[in-house]
Amino acid sequence: MLVIGLTGGIGSGKTMATDHFARLGITIVDADLAARVVVEPGQPALAEIADTFGAEMLLADGRLDRARLRQRVFSDTAARQHLEAITHPRIAAEIARQLAASKSPYTILVSPLLFESGQARFAQRTLLIDADPAQQRTRAAARDNTSPEQIDAIMAAQMSREERRQRADDILLNDGEPGHLYAAIETLHGRYLELARGQ
Ligand code: ATP
Repeated sequence: MLVIGLTGGIGSGKTMATDHFARLGITIVDADLAARVVVEPGQPALAEIADTFGAEMLLADGRLDRARLRQRVFSDTAARQHLEAITHPRIAAEIARQLAASKSPYTILVSPLLFESGQARFAQRTLLIDADPAQQRTRAAARDNTSPEQIDAIMAAQMSREERRQRADDILLNDGEPGHLYAAIETLHGRYLELARGQ
């Protein structure tokens, strides 16, 4: 089964793009959602996190206190690696399960950290939603009510635009009206359908 890995920086238009692929009938597997599923109450990863980092990482209702955990591992490399050792294999298994369940001609795996996380290994081809950094800032700020400083910090921590552009097989520059992006997606969709038929 053909899997297209879709990525892009903050505010680049990943959601806008995947929404359109979904309208074309393509199943979207979202790595961020998979990462949430594996730490839901009752999941073994959540129990392991509480054992490792303390029960104070859980909220009163038993759900993960994500903000607190993020703060705990933020500047502690060993703790972060430990956390990733707990979560990454389970996230990968959840992604694989969802990909296997997909019934569309090809499937899109969307992940902001497609290249950094190694999740690109699930994909035969990768698609970058590319945007000018100034446009990323404006769009992310308008959407999230985040300060320019916060957005710059996130952008600085993400892979550079150049590196993403070098790694991706396909690139869609999202610099115009949404309709422009949708038209480019429809062209790519045709190519991906052909690729899927050829597999
Ligand atoms: P993140 O990784 O931060 O969640 P994203 O890559 O999923 O971001 P979107 O949520 O799709 O990005 O887009 C960011 C914001 O910019 C949204 O509010 C979206 O509606 C808007 N946007 C994206 N592309 C365009 C466009 N071509 N024209 C106008 N607005 C756009």
